[in-house]
Amino acid sequence: MAMTADRTERDLARLDELIAQKEAEFLATQRKSGEMLERARGSLAGGVISNWQISKPQPIWITHGKGSRIWDVDGNEYVDLHNGYGVMAVGHAHPKIVEAVSNRISLGSHFAQPTPDSIAVAENLKKRFGLPKWRFGNSGTESTMDAVHLMRVATGRWKILKVEGTYHGHSDVVQVSVYNEPPEIGPADRPIAQVAAAGVLPAAAENAIVVPFNDLDQVERAFREHPDEIAGMILEPIVMNIGMVLPEPGYLEGLREITRRHGALLAFDEVKTGLTMAPGGATEYFGVTPDIVCLAKALGGGLPCGAVGGSEEVMSLIAEGEYEQVGTFNGNPLTMAAARATVTQVLDDSAYEHFANLRQIMVEGCERVLREYDLPGYVTAVGAKGIVTFSRNKIRNYRDFLQEDARYSHAHWLFQLLGGVFLPPWGKAEQWMVSVQHSPADVQRFIDNFQTFAEAVRS
Ligand code: PMP
Repeated sequence: MAMTADRTERDLARLDELIAQKEAEFLATQRKSGEMLERARGSLAGGVISNWQISKPQPIWITHGKGSRIWDVDGNEYVDLHNGYGVMAVGHAHPKIVEAVSNRISLGSHFAQPTPDSIAVAENLKKRFGLPKWRFGNSGTESTMDAVHLMRVATGRWKILKVEGTYHGHSDVVQVSVYNEPPEIGPADRPIAQVAAAGVLPAAAENAIVVPFNDLDQVERAFREHPDEIAGMILEPIVMNIGMVLPEPGYLEGLREITRRHGALLAFDEVKTGLTMAPGGATEYFGVTPDIVCLAKALGGGLPCGAVGGSEEVMSLIAEGEYEQVGTFNGNPLTMAAARATVTQVLDDSAYEHFANLRQIMVEGCERVLREYDLPGYVTAVGAKGIVTFSRNKIRNYRDFLQEDARYSHAHWLFQLLGGVFLPPWGKAEQWMVSVQHSPADVQRFIDNFQTFAEAVRS
């Protein structure tokens, strides 16, 4: 125990040194990005387009991407394992997507009327997820907002159950207890629902009951304490904004049973898991079918896209006009053309085999390095995604995640970047993702950098 504590302290001191050194090296390779940022600050709030593009020490400006690679404005080339926060499962400028979008653009790109591609996409999703009816939107935020609204309309109840520390987009209905910190979050066995961002209505938290991931007892208790008040539960089947936390055996099945027993609905936020874990996302992977599935990210093949799928019963609320699922850009022809090519031509069975082959190389490589250098950490990987979690203890939920020291993942991120691999900047929270265009050599570069990082920590 004492030896582990000493080693951790030594690691953290070493990581501080490495971060300072690598951030300086990073800035030296990012001079043009620095100039971009200065210029952008004159017209873009904060110099970026989304707060998630702000990374330490500075955002990276990209010029283009092709296949598994992207290039920044300074001319640096990277193997892209960020893939736009898990969107580009098709890889960059995939010939099928380029063809579909190029053909479509010359035929007109927006009518606010349906185009035939949207039927092909809905039919494909119906098969993949086993849910009969679909609607499209433009983002994950819209998908989860529709899901929560639908649960409320279907049951005539207001409260929703939400997992503590999970992100489902930036609408008020789900901006509750995301990255909130102690002490405001209350005790672990009775978390307090908290508004997660400035400007969100307090009623959002008042109408949410927050439970830890992987804890069925607290879900049971919520239903006991709020009889006939809970519309349903929304959750990510694998939590992906606190690393990658898998459901324990029986957890999803338990939620399915409990929600049904109480006349409430179950919605899976598959914005990140959908299409990247398995052809039918986590729904297929775990064999538990919820009442509603939310998709976005990988579905559009790189174009902004969202989708909500549901049972006949739930989706009839839309069909019969009880719930207004709307949007000027819903089913935009360009998006639908790209989505059609994505689901019917690119993400086929061979794509998932390819993900599995690359995953095996990455998992074996990372586990070997962790062992050889005795770094605190373990690997979690499913489908196209994975992560090294730098913790000796298994992370089961948000409270565990808060205990992880972010210096390991930040230093690792810098080593990867300087070694020509682009990972998501928030390393502690986000995963790697491969695409159909990544090769074994691409992922080997990741492992080599991981080894260099481990060596540096131990030197
Ligand atoms: N749900 C999950 C699980 C997400 O990870 C995200 C985005 N990271 C969203 C919803 C929101 O998606 P969008 O950014 O497209 O609105």
